Amino acid sequence: MDKKIQMVDLKGQYLRIKEEIDQALLSAVSETAYINGPQVKTFIESLKSFNQVNHAVTCGNGTDALQIAMMALGFKPGGEVIVPAFTYIATVEVIALLGLTPKFIDVQPDTFELDYEQLEATITEKTVGIVPVHLFGQCSNMEAINAIAGKHDVAVIEDTAQAMGAEYIFADGRKQFAGTVGTIGTTSFFPSKNLGCFGDGGALLTNDAELAQRAHMIANHGQRQKYHHESIGVNSRLDTVQAAVLNVKIKYLSRYADARRTVAQKYDIALADIEGLTTPKQAPYSTHVYNQYTCQIADGRRDALKAFLQERGVPTMVYYPIPVHLQQAYRQYGYNEGDFPVSEQLCKNVLSLPIHTEMELETQDYIIEQIKDFFAYGNNQ
Ligand SMILES: *Cc1c(COP(=O)(O)O)cnc(C)c1O
Repeated sequence: MDKKIQMVDLKGQYLRIKEEIDQALLSAVSETAYINGPQVKTFIESLKSFNQVNHAVTCGNGTDALQIAMMALGFKPGGEVIVPAFTYIATVEVIALLGLTPKFIDVQPDTFELDYEQLEATITEKTVGIVPVHLFGQCSNMEAINAIAGKHDVAVIEDTAQAMGAEYIFADGRKQFAGTVGTIGTTSFFPSKNLGCFGDGGALLTNDAELAQRAHMIANHGQRQKYHHESIGVNSRLDTVQAAVLNVKIKYLSRYADARRTVAQKYDIALADIEGLTTPKQAPYSTHVYNQYTCQIADGRRDALKAFLQERGVPTMVYYPIPVHLQQAYRQYGYNEGDFPVSEQLCKNVLSLPIHTEMELETQDYIIEQIKDFFAYGNNQ
């Protein structure tokens, strides 16, 4: 391979829509409405219409979106929030920062979503919320989660940072976009997410008008009216220039998802028969937008495969190497090794392969060939 293989090809993606993007950026720059410019309002409308949801609130990033959601829901210090142990740290960070107590639970070994039995068993009088994470681009089983949440009257915050554009499929066949099925959904426009801007950005989605209003107020220093501060808020905004980029890219979001799915299907077929490698499971209750294509490598050979591929110019990533409950900063919550065996095992097994909207057939053929090589004979370390 003469071309450097990448996990994500942001440059290639940009070049394909360069003219539109450059135009949008230039307008935003020359119009000088850098904060809350008209592009932000346009993007909020596009985001609502894409996701078929009544309210969208933009903010500075996906981590802020989670924090704003919990503040808008009125979570008070001491409340418990249930969260999977196998996730990105942001999900847990904001819980801790708000003085809430993270209650970890294990995940399912095939879809990586939270374990429903543990979810119900972990709910106490103090539980205020559940954060299902739609990890790697596929929805958790929202009907199961909503049923448990409803029974105990707790809020459901869908962490949709990796799943923008995925659709939850109800038992009756009805579909609804990820982030619009729970109480509130949060997302991120970090460049490598499925809908990425050229820096940081985030948003909240909900059908609850009052909740949306509170979220909007909190993201804007707790004010509805300038210099009248009703609640303690934060300063978290989506920049006008980022909104300008997103207004272009949201038009391509469905096509981007299709491109990722095409890559995933090719991996699915090519890697299906490799003993020792498990391809990601597609759940019946969700479409998959493959923010990551995450395999599991058996028998402790994950790191050897990673090194083998690296040597042959194929980058891979481990999302995530350490479960949240074993991260140093979260040891204070009293969890130990062995508490969540599935999450702990996944951290040793998972390997994400290159997947993006610009993947070329020959490049993917080359990647697949190297993986097959490893399992055929590169594997005697
Ligand atoms: C990226 C991500 C976030 C945080 O988004 P930022 O925009 O980087 O703050 C939160 N949760 C998950 C699961 C993520 O992947």
